[in-house]
Amino acid sequence: MRAAAGRRCALRMSRGEAPFSGRAGTAAWVLAAAVLITASGAPLGLDPQEFLEKYGYLHNDHHIHNTAEARSAIRDFQWLSHLPITGELDGATLRQMAEPRCGVSDEGSQWIWSQRVKVIFTGGRRPQHRGRRSASQGEKWSKRHLTYQVVNWPQHLSRGSVRLAVQAAFQLWSNVSGLVFQEAPEGPADIRLTFYEGDHNDGASNAFDGPGGTLAHAFLPRRGEAHFDMAERWTLNGHKGHNLFMVTAHEVGHTLGLEHSPVRHALMSPYYRKLGRSLVLSWDDIVAVQQLYGKPLSNRPVRLPGQVLHAALQQWELAELQSQSQTAGLPLYCQGVFDAITMDQNETVLVFRGSVYWTVSADGGVSSPLPLRQRWPGLPQAIEAAAFSPLDSKWYFFKGRRTWRFTGSVLDPTFPRMSSDLGLPRHPDCAFYYAPLGHMVLFKRSRYFVFNLKLLRQEPYYPRRLTDWTGVPPGTNGALTRPDGRLYLFKDRQFWRFDPGKLQVTRDGQWAEDLSWTGCSYIPQSNNIL
Ligand SMILES: [Zn+2]
Ligand SMILES: [Zn+2]
Repeated sequence: MRAAAGRRCALRMSRGEAPFSGRAGTAAWVLAAAVLITASGAPLGLDPQEFLEKYGYLHNDHHIHNTAEARSAIRDFQWLSHLPITGELDGATLRQMAEPRCGVSDEGSQWIWSQRVKVIFTGGRRPQHRGRRSASQGEKWSKRHLTYQVVNWPQHLSRGSVRLAVQAAFQLWSNVSGLVFQEAPEGPADIRLTFYEGDHNDGASNAFDGPGGTLAHAFLPRRGEAHFDMAERWTLNGHKGHNLFMVTAHEVGHTLGLEHSPVRHALMSPYYRKLGRSLVLSWDDIVAVQQLYGKPLSNRPVRLPGQVLHAALQQWELAELQSQSQTAGLPLYCQGVFDAITMDQNETVLVFRGSVYWTVSADGGVSSPLPLRQRWPGLPQAIEAAAFSPLDSKWYFFKGRRTWRFTGSVLDPTFPRMSSDLGLPRHPDCAFYYAPLGHMVLFKRSRYFVFNLKLLRQEPYYPRRLTDWTGVPPGTNGALTRPDGRLYLFKDRQFWRFDPGKLQVTRDGQWAEDLSWTGCSYIPQSNNIL
């Protein structure tokens, strides 16, 4: 750990980059930061100085930052992030910097927010902006009817459901303001949503960074552009990945002229928020948009709770899946995303996603998407891990804090149970029955758990580190054992084959192309007689 930190420090100095402070203590400061990052488990790629510059806490104007400036920047960041204000790069601060977030700068958010609150109390007009930010800030659209366009589409999601999610994201804002939005599928549009990978001519500091980190960014009026990182695992319905509806709703806020909010549960908070049960817009989001565009014409703002949107997203997906299955293309999961996978006693592979599952029979025939609840009543949608156990011929499902066990389609008594009562982690990555141990195994990030199915408790001396499974990466989203005893692990489009005899990965590749039993190379027989 220390060696790595030392190398990092040496690299910075040899490149001749501007050190953070002019004092002799700089090297120690950077070193301490690097050690802390390693210790707290945050990615080593994080550079606190770069972060503070990128998000507007430090000005990158070619002068050497002194310690007072650095501390002040850290304090501002801690204030906006609801951390204890220490002015130090402590573990919590570094971890917060590594959280997935919006790529738009936080500069000026604090001042604009204090002005917004002042207006609430004085009932006056929104004050004019001043100082160096006045040129770019406080801009808004002069019209109330705006058009938008989805310029290109993310992978792994159907266009129909993306279109509906984007529509709902705009509606969120029109429900509480004097704005009206209309989709313009072609031609000119006021607001354009585009997916990009990496550098996309917005300047080097706006280049996208692959999965995690910066998810998207947008421009204040009247440029009318929101950009999304194509490399993210976008989802509309599930725990794994980032919810495209939530991120779109946030970025649309920027295109309307809203800055980041320091209010913890605000949609305009810079950090990624899951779609939960609570209201999507906070009072602060609504005040901000109404100060720019007034109240809705009906004068009765409509606020949708997350639960309602959740249900809507599910329904769209199901409708989309059913219409797709009629066109007899490859099943939707073949594009690379599923929640869980397992195999039953008949060697039928089951693939789970959202509120449905598919079966792939031993001869390669794929079913249409089948509703999860029809076969396993009471099971929630978007499960996180599933495993059929040949030991007791039971189905195990895991989601959030809970574990379900079914015999056939019947939920066993006392289930669902709290996973913690069984010694299991919440939000597991995947689960599978592992014959060499005679137990079920669950992966969760860098650790694995061994679950005794007879005693319904975790085996002693576990969890252990995932490195026991040589060659298996963390964060897999599904796993199953094939009839030949080999274990297959999946992560996005990749698979790894683990050989229990050799105790290591012996093959990897793209599962949809390379593994015919996943049902993705199956071509339906044509009935056409030519
Ligand atoms: Zn933002
Ligand atoms: Zn961009």
